[in-house]
Amino acid sequence: MNEVSSLLERHGIRPTQQRVKVAEVLLVAPVHLTAEQLLSTLRQFPSRVSKATVYNTLKLFVDHGLVRQIHLDPERCVYDSAMTPHHHFQNVETGEMRDIRPDELTLERMPTLPPGTEIDGVEVVIRVRPQAS
Ligand SMILES: [Zn+2]
Repeated sequence: MNEVSSLLERHGIRPTQQRVKVAEVLLVAPVHLTAEQLLSTLRQFPSRVSKATVYNTLKLFVDHGLVRQIHLDPERCVYDSAMTPHHHFQNVETGEMRDIRPDELTLERMPTLPPGTEIDGVEVVIRVRPQAS
């Protein structure tokens, strides 16, 4: 069994051929991909993976803690294969996401939390655009 298959099994996911294909694109190196980008990457390979399978597999990976879903706007999200907490630069023109290491950014002050809540995580997105020339 290959490395990707055993990674899926360790997370309680049965490694079907199609799930392994999705995982090979998404999990082998740290990437940020939208479902559409993932789909078009997968379409470069001879064996077809349907759009429905890609969406179902992404949801499964999110539910089992293999990737994180980051919402860019109501219509779009990217799937991040780096599971440790970190921040992002987001290029508003290209949609490209780039990681910011947690130690590169510090927050001076936190707002008072809503009553009865505790912090689950803090992720900062710094939106950037190409410099005006
Ligand atoms: Zn990231």
